[in-house]
Amino acid sequence: MKKAPFETLVCSPWCRFYKGGKEEMACAGLIFFQNRFEWNSLNKLLQTLEPMSWNASEDQLLAGVLCDPCEFRVDGCGFREGEEDSPPCGGYILLELLIRQGLVQREDL
Ligand code: SF4
Repeated sequence: MKKAPFETLVCSPWCRFYKGGKEEMACAGLIFFQNRFEWNSLNKLLQTLEPMSWNASEDQLLAGVLCDPCEFRVDGCGFREGEEDSPPCGGYILLELLIRQGLVQREDL
């Protein structure tokens, strides 16, 4: 059976910049989830996520784990460059919410 792509869990619901699979590269936010989770286990985990707005409270950690190795920084990530009204990618937002809700532990990153 063909595996459902992680974009359906990470990008399309969470990322303002996602263009429906037309991207040639994947940002580190998506790659993190692809490397750390099975699709089914992430899907189950996300069903326990409480609705909540993202904030930058975990930025120091996420900058190192996600943004430092991210290929999207070559062309410039508006969020990382501090542009006004430019949110982070969906993977960053999702991981930040999972950490704040205790569904992913900081020490496991
Ligand atoms: S916020 Fe920007 S630099 Fe950080 S992982 Fe996402 S796309 Fe990459």
